[in-house]
Amino acid sequence: MVEPTPLAIYVHWPYCTRICPYCDFNVYKGAENAELVQAILRDLTHWREWSGPRDINSIHFGGGTPSLMSVDDIDSVVSTVNHLWSQPDGAEVGLEANPSDANREVWEGYKKAGINRLSLGVQSFDDDALSFLGRNHNSRAAHLAVDMALKIFPSVSLDLIYGLAGHDTSRDGEQVVTKGVHHVSTYQLTIEEGTAFHRAEQRGEARAVDPDSSADAFSSLAQTLGRNRYNRYEISNWAKPGFESRHNLAYWRGYDYVGVGPGAHGRLTVGGNRVATTAYLKPKDYIQAAHAGGIEIREILSSSDRASEYLMMGLRTVEGISVQKYEKWANTQLPKTTVDDLVETDFLKLDNDRLSTTAQGRDVLDYITGKLLT
Ligand code: SF4
Repeated sequence: MVEPTPLAIYVHWPYCTRICPYCDFNVYKGAENAELVQAILRDLTHWREWSGPRDINSIHFGGGTPSLMSVDDIDSVVSTVNHLWSQPDGAEVGLEANPSDANREVWEGYKKAGINRLSLGVQSFDDDALSFLGRNHNSRAAHLAVDMALKIFPSVSLDLIYGLAGHDTSRDGEQVVTKGVHHVSTYQLTIEEGTAFHRAEQRGEARAVDPDSSADAFSSLAQTLGRNRYNRYEISNWAKPGFESRHNLAYWRGYDYVGVGPGAHGRLTVGGNRVATTAYLKPKDYIQAAHAGGIEIREILSSSDRASEYLMMGLRTVEGISVQKYEKWANTQLPKTTVDDLVETDFLKLDNDRLSTTAQGRDVLDYITGKLLT
């Protein structure tokens, strides 16, 4: 029998104090909701019945803004997970926080509750860029939050956004290096339908994204981080050695993950099938469903969908994929001539069973996966 993968747990907290003009996540204005915490705890017990006993790879509080949750709420979710499954040493317990929520007492409380990695939504250290993004923190608050996080948590990650028209974010990478932050996730500003930026563009107002400056900003960030021994272990993620995100690696490696909270996605392998789940989007529907015991919209992935997902996620990372695993699920071989061509042109690397992208291959990943999956 194949050993089950360790289980990653994602907890979605959908509330934010205000909605940023570029955000298309499942978010709602607000902060606390005691009923939602209870529903998440109930949902976790349903998942445990379904998954059986498993080791935990990681717990991740994402959102929305989970730094709006109280220490007691974080503590009850972490304790419930630990009670339901087993958490081996080294499991990552991460929480996404907004700089404006920085509070020493609360963050020390989070740490006591088990949080060992804080991921800060700094986005930029530039005041103009932050105001353009509609963030409720300024550069000073960003500096204070990062400095405080580094004193409290053993592992600190920052989110940075680049590609804002008319804004120079080239110094953000230097701030990361100077402060000694452990991990960076970068996001290119994109304009998604349904966001305030999209509506502004529809009205003919100035474009928020500039593709040329976006490419320049990314390359300057990449150079600064690379020069300073941050390893680009995934397309948009950099880490000092040993500080790679265990939780995100679980997605990219095709591990099983539980998704609780409104709109959260999950994947669980049961009886040889990989099942995809999506929780109800609206908090009210989610809470109702959690108490009724049937919470997710479930779909069994076909073997070829499972294989494609594994390939598309795995090739994002430096470590790549196992060819054998892919071909077993796909029930077909990877196109040999295409692989050879992509190796020849230095987009792919093939090392026995491992197929991975080169640095230049990761820059054109859609092209590569398109070639491999046709
Ligand atoms: S704080 Fe984050 S999740 Fe909330 S609206 Fe802004 S970008 Fe979206």
